[in-house]
Amino acid sequence: VADNPLPESAITPAAGEEAVGVVGADVRVPLVTGEWVEYANFDYAASAPCLTAVHRRLEEALPYYASVHRGAGFHSQVSTDAYERARRSVADFVGARQGDAVVFVRSTTDALNLLARSVPDGCTVVVFEAEHHASLLPWQHRGSRAGRVVRLPLPASPGEAVEAARSALGSAPEGPRLLCVTAASNVTGEIWPIEELTEVAHSAGARIVVDAAQLVPHRAFSLAATGADYVAFSGHKLYAPFGSGVLAGRTDWLRAAAPYLAGGGATANVTEDGVRWNDLPARHEAGSPNVLGAVTLAAACDVLSAADQERLHEREQALLRRLRDGLARIPGVHDLGLWGGDHPRVGIVSFVVDGLAADQLAAALSAEYGVGVRDGLFCAHLLTRRLLPSGHTQAVRASLGLGTTEEHVDRLVGAVAELATRGP
Ligand code: PLP
Repeated sequence: VADNPLPESAITPAAGEEAVGVVGADVRVPLVTGEWVEYANFDYAASAPCLTAVHRRLEEALPYYASVHRGAGFHSQVSTDAYERARRSVADFVGARQGDAVVFVRSTTDALNLLARSVPDGCTVVVFEAEHHASLLPWQHRGSRAGRVVRLPLPASPGEAVEAARSALGSAPEGPRLLCVTAASNVTGEIWPIEELTEVAHSAGARIVVDAAQLVPHRAFSLAATGADYVAFSGHKLYAPFGSGVLAGRTDWLRAAAPYLAGGGATANVTEDGVRWNDLPARHEAGSPNVLGAVTLAAACDVLSAADQERLHEREQALLRRLRDGLARIPGVHDLGLWGGDHPRVGIVSFVVDGLAADQLAAALSAEYGVGVRDGLFCAHLLTRRLLPSGHTQAVRASLGLGTTEEHVDRLVGAVAELATRGP
């Protein structure tokens, strides 16, 4: 659009440190005593607060809010331009190769359901029991074209994961095969060996889809560098608002599949005799798309791509160490992990405290200390139940992000120590 009033990028050189600040970092919450304290948010893995730069981008785009692609008005032109620029930002963020598709969807769950409906008929899908339900279940759900789903048990080491995948893919029947793996666990934060798994998949003639919902808020991921075929993630875990997500990767399966939804936008022509569907990405984006969702998700991608990732990573790892060391000093606390304490993790720790139910602990952390954690099985029932020490039925998860401070970590550790001593 000539004279597009929306700036090219959410990032200005001056934004610097401030760009990775989060909205609402200083929000205060009430305690049971009536006192108000700054909220210590440890629920980033569920949904991360908006970045300040993303918020700014939203304010810039709002005046031009309009439906994309089919409007001739100026606002529609600006919005269409911003929507397609957002696609390019996302392509850069995930290291898309020439010709890869970037399809805007609602979430990671939506992305993986779209892929389940797009794999070739009868495709064998191999998946680990360690997966979040979003990557464990779509393959056997209504509409999935997968033929056979092989569920691999929890591997005792990353090496065992690679060997199990090799064996399962190697012994699968001839025909299309897909390996689905989470890059970073939403329960333990542990990072999976994506490069090795990609190599194993490709050498067996299979493809790999990476659920990067929990990785990309913490670490860069590249389709080109890893060789992975597809990647899925959600905007709301990446410091953008709810309602947007991405499936990016190879086009052939997506192009050959029936549109994910039938409706306007996915159609090139409709006559009395039938429908001619659009090519990618419009083919799988029927209906009026979530323009602001795409624009803000892309703004978050821009901010994180431009940030000093090394510094952010070191900062998060220091906070993670502080949290894990602090929890380890409290008698009766067990930190859940599949592969031992030293395996690389993103900023996620799930734990239990002997003698305290997880829901009771989480409620007390909120009411008495202003600390927000999550309790339960974290939509990964098979994994979490297997990791729980005996006598526990649920866990507490503390997840870190760009607004986490040392004071938050110390408050959480101090609170857990007091509650563990006090007992039920
Ligand atoms: N995959 C992983 C690893 C997750 O942690 C989550 C959400 O917690 C999802 C997928 C699903 O994400 P969404 O709820 O945004 O679809």
